[in-house]
Amino acid sequence: MNEMNPKLKPFAVCKWFLENPASELNTRDLCNKFYIRSRRCVGAHFRRILDLGYISSRLENKRAIYFAGPNIAEFGSILSGAVKPPKKDCGGVRCLEDIRERCVIDSETDCWNWALGMSGCRTPTVYSPKSEKIEQAPRMAWLFRGNEIPEGHRVWRTCLNHKCCNPEHLACGTQADMGRWQKQTGVQKGIPSKVAANVRMGKLRRKVSDEGIAEICSSSETLDVLAKRFGVSTYAVSMYRRRLRGTVPLMRGASVFGWRPA
Ligand SMILES: [Zn+2]
Repeated sequence: MNEMNPKLKPFAVCKWFLENPASELNTRDLCNKFYIRSRRCVGAHFRRILDLGYISSRLENKRAIYFAGPNIAEFGSILSGAVKPPKKDCGGVRCLEDIRERCVIDSETDCWNWALGMSGCRTPTVYSPKSEKIEQAPRMAWLFRGNEIPEGHRVWRTCLNHKCCNPEHLACGTQADMGRWQKQTGVQKGIPSKVAANVRMGKLRRKVSDEGIAEICSSSETLDVLAKRFGVSTYAVSMYRRRLRGTVPLMRGASVFGWRPA
């Protein structure tokens, strides 16, 4: 981000003035020389390099004349890499109001629905000039409200709206705190993808393989004998035999959730 892009016109103009310090160009020359679309956009286009003093301008016969500014040497050191270009004092969020301005506020739920970019379509993200990084907008909102996020803590939305950045709808805690909150509120219950994941995890943790379960079901041995043989409790063997646990999974595509039109 700090690197200057040589394709940018202000860059090319400064470079030209650096190489020809005694030259002067009027607005029309500038447009022709650097392929700038209109004379009107020169001022807007170059406001920043004018402010920084890399080039200067004066009016002559109602026409702007451009020439190398007092700080053109500094621009030379930026080109050689000795000095970093000055940071812009715009862009990103600096206070809670900056975040609020970037949201559409839902009058019913009071949710601040983030209106800009999202990371992975799930998390509002925004540039933070303080850390000079892209940050999660809800975390920034939490910090701007005067709270802290200790090391290893997470911020989550209690309103379950993944676009929401309202600090009143946020909570902060460890991963375990978040898990406890999810358990209490039951927000993760009954979600098909979570149910499927739990079944997969249960299968991975199971001590007895599918073949073992088939053997338990067909065997006429007692629960105690089978439990000892497979190294599990008699309760588990009973559950397998009654097909209440460890049943053979559905065929791929058999689930109604996986159905797609042909
Ligand atoms: Zn909300």
